[in-house]
Amino acid sequence: MQKMTVKDIDVKGKRVLVRVDFNVPVDDSGNITDDRRIRSAVPTIEYLVNQGARVILMCHFGRPKEPFDPEMKVDRMGERLAQIIGRPVCKLDDCVGEEVENKVFAMKDGDIILLENVRFYKDTKNDPEFTEKLAKLGEIFVNDAFGAAHRAHSSTFGVAKLLPSVAGFLMQKEIEIMGNALRNPDKPFVAILGGAKVSDKIGVIENLLTKVDTLLIGGGMAYTFLKAKGYEIGNSLLEEDKVRLAKELMDKAVSSNVKLLLPVDNIVADRFAIDADKKVVDSTAIPADWEGLDIGPKTQELFANVIKNAKTVVWNGPMGVFEMEPFAGGTKAVAEALAKCNGTTIVGGGDSAAAVEQLGFANKVTHVSTGGGASLEFLEGKDLPGVAALKDR
Ligand code: AMP
Repeated sequence: MQKMTVKDIDVKGKRVLVRVDFNVPVDDSGNITDDRRIRSAVPTIEYLVNQGARVILMCHFGRPKEPFDPEMKVDRMGERLAQIIGRPVCKLDDCVGEEVENKVFAMKDGDIILLENVRFYKDTKNDPEFTEKLAKLGEIFVNDAFGAAHRAHSSTFGVAKLLPSVAGFLMQKEIEIMGNALRNPDKPFVAILGGAKVSDKIGVIENLLTKVDTLLIGGGMAYTFLKAKGYEIGNSLLEEDKVRLAKELMDKAVSSNVKLLLPVDNIVADRFAIDADKKVVDSTAIPADWEGLDIGPKTQELFANVIKNAKTVVWNGPMGVFEMEPFAGGTKAVAEALAKCNGTTIVGGGDSAAAVEQLGFANKVTHVSTGGGASLEFLEGKDLPGVAALKDR
């Protein structure tokens, strides 16, 4: 279902309440280490400003343990936004209440206000009182926070029920590109799944098995599948209680005519450490007491060849323990294969998005999602509450 966007409504002179995702990584001193999420919201903000809207931004940052914890305030995000767009951003010290209302009602066309971290209130509870106070600030609601769209919170869902609500450009891009891939993909359609746990990806695998031509599985989760095939996997990650399910999923792949490929070789280590002894072994020969921490070179090549010929690729989850350099090769190889692929290439958020960014391949793929959990739920085929609440076109 297509959603209405900021382009479909008249925003001139209106107070437009915009939910953005400024939940950026920071270092120990609170300095922003990656401002991609802030940059991603700029097109919507600039459009609204240029249309003469009064832009009231709301965002969350982390999980504050106590209200108004100075370390959890969003001043730095406001400063960074102001730098990027070259306009003043008036950061307020609260997000609801009389003082905020006075400032908001005195705004002029084109002004930008950034409200304080909504998580200082009961945002995550979709608290009706808080929702109403937020909604009172705007006449229109724009949701541009795809990364928070899988949650039915006051600032993502509650306000959308009280105000005319449309998608921002980032939200539109995320749901269009990923939605198209799921609804109407150019074939061959290849999905690559990795990461630690099968249990986190069951919904995604089940949904994708009805749509893809080939499913590549790497990362820690692959070992539960290898076990289900009857292989010995040494000390590799195993979800004992998911072995049967893994077998069922492999059977379903066969009956659905989907090629499900597992690692044919692995980099195994004698312990989980950066300086562990390591060697390459076939999946049929993983020694007891060793653990698989990355896909091996033959698997890299196998996966890269499948990706090369794909017309649509979706990737979620690293191929190994990529945080440790000796086990990052598989994840790098997949990132590189996506960068070289001429089809539509989509990287789900989280670790795989970080890997693509770090390796400098972000501009060489079609889309890097800004939402980790949200993109996973989207790929599961779920309706995201923050999206569902927006007006249909
Ligand atoms: P996820 O959050 O499920 O996408 O998983 C990401 C995590 O999986 C990363 O921290 C990786 O280090 C970890 N991971 C990937 N492959 C393996 C593996 N073979 N063994 C243990 N952990 C892994």
